[in-house]
Amino acid sequence: MSTLVTSDYEVSARQNELIQMLPKAELHVHLEGSIRRKTVKDLVEQHVTNQNLAQRINILALPGIHNQIEFERVYEQTEFKNLKDFMGRLDVNVAVLRRPEDFTRVVRELVYDASVQNIRYMEVTFSAGLHINDKTKQISSFKQLMNALDEGVMQANNEIVHESSDKHQVEVRFIIDHDRNFLNYEGPDQRQRSYNEYQQILEWCREERDNKHQESSIVGVGLGGEEAEDNMLSAFSSIVAQAKKYNIPFIPHAGEIKLAGNSEDTISIVRDYQIKRIGHGVYMTEVIDDLLNEQIVLEICPSSNLLTNSSPSIEEHPLRILWDAGVLITINTDDPGIFQKNLVDEYKLAMKRFQLTIGDLARASLTALRASFLQEDKRRAMEASFLEEFEKLGIQITDEIIPLNRRLLIPIAK
Ligand SMILES: [Zn+2]
Repeated sequence: MSTLVTSDYEVSARQNELIQMLPKAELHVHLEGSIRRKTVKDLVEQHVTNQNLAQRINILALPGIHNQIEFERVYEQTEFKNLKDFMGRLDVNVAVLRRPEDFTRVVRELVYDASVQNIRYMEVTFSAGLHINDKTKQISSFKQLMNALDEGVMQANNEIVHESSDKHQVEVRFIIDHDRNFLNYEGPDQRQRSYNEYQQILEWCREERDNKHQESSIVGVGLGGEEAEDNMLSAFSSIVAQAKKYNIPFIPHAGEIKLAGNSEDTISIVRDYQIKRIGHGVYMTEVIDDLLNEQIVLEICPSSNLLTNSSPSIEEHPLRILWDAGVLITINTDDPGIFQKNLVDEYKLAMKRFQLTIGDLARASLTALRASFLQEDKRRAMEASFLEEFEKLGIQITDEIIPLNRRLLIPIAK
């Protein structure tokens, strides 16, 4: 029996229409996890020409895949035993991105797919180090990679306006992620090597920002991977401190799985370094008061939590508890290409199974925009258009539970 079934995403025709038309912002989506299925296959074909699929799989040495049957199975898989199992699937997508043009293509497709769902702003996370440090790939520098990504955004937006003047372009910013798992590395210096790699990421980001100033599309750094006792957020405090010194926002994944002591560990670093957003954070219910006091914004990805079995069932998923407590919540996809669930699906699931109203969803979208790292003038202009469109759609934003008075969360104009 699957954790999620089609009917979990079924809403009325009118609700469907409103969700589709609602202007949206998304803060948590991984480039590597967003690749369209067909594109994964296309890239495998392009990398090794004049061979059949079995030979291509062999030559590309796709992680965990040894033959065509395994490829087909992995390729179709949307549900996972646990996060580790999921990470194995994600590695296949990481492996098929080999050339700058592959990155341009997957970004172009992600942005195009976003525009179709009326997403106006998105922050896309990707693991630059995994690509640059892999010498079998044709990626020579961080700058080259960023140019390829920026090119993809531009191509998509050109395509969008070209198709119809009614369509909206998508503002895109990037977050550079690093895997918290040291276990992938062999040898006694695992931890140090991981820190060094992270340090490298910070230097890349600083350089890119210093070169491009406001034009840089990088807005922060992240920390992903599976949480464990030895890699909670405090294990990275020196990195968090360095990011703060460089004035680069740090947006960690935390509280994605149930892990004793993790909430307290996370909240202490969040407080010390004024971290404003947490990826997932669903298993931080023990520190709800702190989340409220610090006005932390959670990037919740409901389908992802259920399909990676981080949360065993909808009934046990803490979204509703956090929402009712007044925690600032945004709704996100995490890895739409792998889970085969887009942001419209996530909003429908939130409505159908977590009983969020259309006003609640408008609030979640607006919260995402307000918690974003878009330049203030652009953010305000976009917020004004969101509010105008909500009104045109007859959507009343749910506005009574959460105090909207933190730096980025200015009060909603009445
Ligand atoms: Zn994530």
